[in-house]
Amino acid sequence: MLTKKQKMQILAEEWGRELQEIIESGCKMLNMEHAIPHIEVKFSTAMKTNGGTAQKQFGGGGVIAINLRLCYNTLLKEGPEKARIHRENTFWHELAHILAGWGAGHGPEWKRVMRRLGRVPDRCHRQDTKGLRTKQRRYLLLCGYCRYPQAISAAMRTRMKNKISHILEGNYGQLPKCPRCLRSITITDLDLAKKIRIPTPPPPRR
Ligand SMILES: [Zn+2]
Ligand SMILES: [Zn+2]
Repeated sequence: MLTKKQKMQILAEEWGRELQEIIESGCKMLNMEHAIPHIEVKFSTAMKTNGGTAQKQFGGGGVIAINLRLCYNTLLKEGPEKARIHRENTFWHELAHILAGWGAGHGPEWKRVMRRLGRVPDRCHRQDTKGLRTKQRRYLLLCGYCRYPQAISAAMRTRMKNKISHILEGNYGQLPKCPRCLRSITITDLDLAKKIRIPTPPPPRR
């Protein structure tokens, strides 16, 4: 008998091949074949409720991370056909983030890329995340100037850090600010933020 972890691992390999095919055909559709070897794929068991994430890297590449537990739960609950549709929607959605480039978010450029990939530019394809939610670890971020407290997720803390370093390297962008005194949040403030445990907030929108 295979353990759940082993089963998930086997499926991740199969789904990784599906995703690789989507990456290759998507890049070809946009005449961006050069990007194919620079897009990395990861299946993560550490993600909470979002189906996937896309992290862009300098120079056009990026990492697509897929929530393996969510894919697996969807397979058990909704069956292979629906699970495949959910997976593919997530794969195309994240690929479009990589191909749309820095700072596109779910804005017009991301939507344009989705349409060129032959996809409907919907922001969310809801998957049932029941049974996946656990207590989320959050950080208590204090403004280094006025000590104004904010609870932020671990993912948000990482995002803010990346964004600040990106800007400090001389790139354009807006530094996150303290909502009370409007001073910029610094990397030190983020490093000093302490872990706290609070009940899970409603599922994030991708
Ligand atoms: Zn402040
Ligand atoms: Zn998205």
